[in-house]
Amino acid sequence: MTTPQHICIAGGGTAGWMTAAALANRLPHSHYRITLVESAQIGTVGVGESTIPHIRQFNSALGITEDEFIAATSATCKLGIEFTDWGKVGESYIHPFGELGKPLAGIEFHHLWQAASLQGLDVPIESFSVAAVAARQRKFSPPHASREHLLSTYTYAYHLDASAYARFLRDYAEQRQVIRVEAQIREVKRDHEGGPITALSLDNGEQISADWFIDCTGFRSLLIGDYSQAEFIDWSEWLKTNRAVVLPCEKDGPSRPYTKAMARDAGWQWQIPLQHRIGNGYVYCSDYISDEEAEHTLRSTLPGEALADVRFLDFKAGCRKQLWVQNCVAIGLSAGFLEPLESTSIFLIQMGIAKFLEHLPGTHNDAARNQYNRELTEQYQVIRDFIILHYYLTQRHDTPFWRDCQAMTLPDSLTELILAFRDSGLVDKKQYGLWPAVCIGQHLHPKQVDSRVAAIPPQQLIGMLNQLKSDIAAQVATLPNMDDYLSSLVAQTPLQKSGMRAGGQV
Ligand SMILES: Cc1cc2nc3c(=O)[nH]c(=O)nc-3n(C[C@H](O)[C@H](O)[C@H](O)COP(=O)(O)OP(=O)(O)OC[C@H]3O[C@@H](n4cnc5c(N)ncnc54)[C@H](O)[C@@H]3O)c2cc1C
Repeated sequence: MTTPQHICIAGGGTAGWMTAAALANRLPHSHYRITLVESAQIGTVGVGESTIPHIRQFNSALGITEDEFIAATSATCKLGIEFTDWGKVGESYIHPFGELGKPLAGIEFHHLWQAASLQGLDVPIESFSVAAVAARQRKFSPPHASREHLLSTYTYAYHLDASAYARFLRDYAEQRQVIRVEAQIREVKRDHEGGPITALSLDNGEQISADWFIDCTGFRSLLIGDYSQAEFIDWSEWLKTNRAVVLPCEKDGPSRPYTKAMARDAGWQWQIPLQHRIGNGYVYCSDYISDEEAEHTLRSTLPGEALADVRFLDFKAGCRKQLWVQNCVAIGLSAGFLEPLESTSIFLIQMGIAKFLEHLPGTHNDAARNQYNRELTEQYQVIRDFIILHYYLTQRHDTPFWRDCQAMTLPDSLTELILAFRDSGLVDKKQYGLWPAVCIGQHLHPKQVDSRVAAIPPQQLIGMLNQLKSDIAAQVATLPNMDDYLSSLVAQTPLQKSGMRAGGQV
């Protein structure tokens, strides 16, 4: 009989419990045992409520149904992000989840739209996205199952109560034999400097030895931070924001099925609607604005009555050079941080877990570790570039922050992508097809479009697009309001019927 390998997860925030739940679900208990150490005294970062659609695959791989998840986490559905005042003050565009329009004979839609607009079509590109049109009307229903149907052309994510999600996953993991230890980690033990971790010493006198250690200790990076190969690569020259003030408030009416990202003088402000409250935060750069001014901006623009005291958080954009060193893998904030403009941190946790599971057979194997590090750091860079794009494309000149954003020297990887889009509307496949909505939303239009568009007579092209716009509007009109959809879903869950409810920290 083989002795099971022991995996120790340090930290029980969203990253820790997502990792514990996924490993408990995917790894055979005969071969692996899992322990998670967390400290209620230290607590979690307590933010992280907006997601991208991949979270649905995560839940579904764990066998978590949508209705139980939505009931347990007070979640609402998210069809995209509305960016206001980013291109210019007074403007707004939605970056929707799913397709923009429909490709025609292999020609991507933004080329068709650009050509039609030059021929006189005067319709914003978001009118060709089911997700964006539904979001503006606060409507929602899951996409249609038939790929032929217009209502199958979008996807969605969630806004969720992060603390409730961690609690939910904790129950899930504990039911699958994950052992939870409540204690503070006092010391990380190694036989020699730079060597594998042998054990964690806890403040209750215990020592936890293990074969693998997953560092989910958040910004503290208690385990990975000691390795020289895991030095932190600072990206704050491009992503200048380094602080956030957060404050939940009461709801202001029917829920919006989208996150709001409103540009402010020295950063931007989020609004994230949950079923029972709205999460708010102002992400800013402290070189350009004081805490008092940031708090004042946030308070004076809250959509409802404040529900708690304000909290301030510090952070720095960047990523560890190596996320897996020896027998230690960093997942979550310990691995790196990209500000929440595109709600990508939980997705990066998911990537870390998925890749760890893929590479685990190569135990203590350099090739597996190197591949993991390459793939993960590439993900961080792709997202980093996409977030920088929003700041760089601004046409605002009204504050020093926005003027400096426009003047920054970009990473070479991003310069190339911007030139490819500006010159010929090309979008790199690794960029998840998200670029057109943001580039066009912020006035970066391709100078040339796909040469095949010229074969379509202009009036025919405009006619097709007008027809598509009407079809989308007609289909969206048939969808229910999101709150009605959620009420009917939650009313059906056993959790709700038994009176349990996601309460918890706001
Ligand atoms: C302002 C802001 C907004 C954000 N918004 C979003 C968003 O909208 N969408 C998104 O996807 N992400 C967002 N994020 C990121 C998101 O919050 C994190 O990715 C997510 O919460 C995971 O955090 P974590 O588990 O890595 O760290 P944490 O939540 O900090 O958890 C760390 C854990 O380690 C434990 N720990 C630490 N030290 C010790 C010790 N010595 N002994 C024992 N235990 C210890 C703590 O108790 C805790 O359990 C945001 C982040 C910030 C800062």
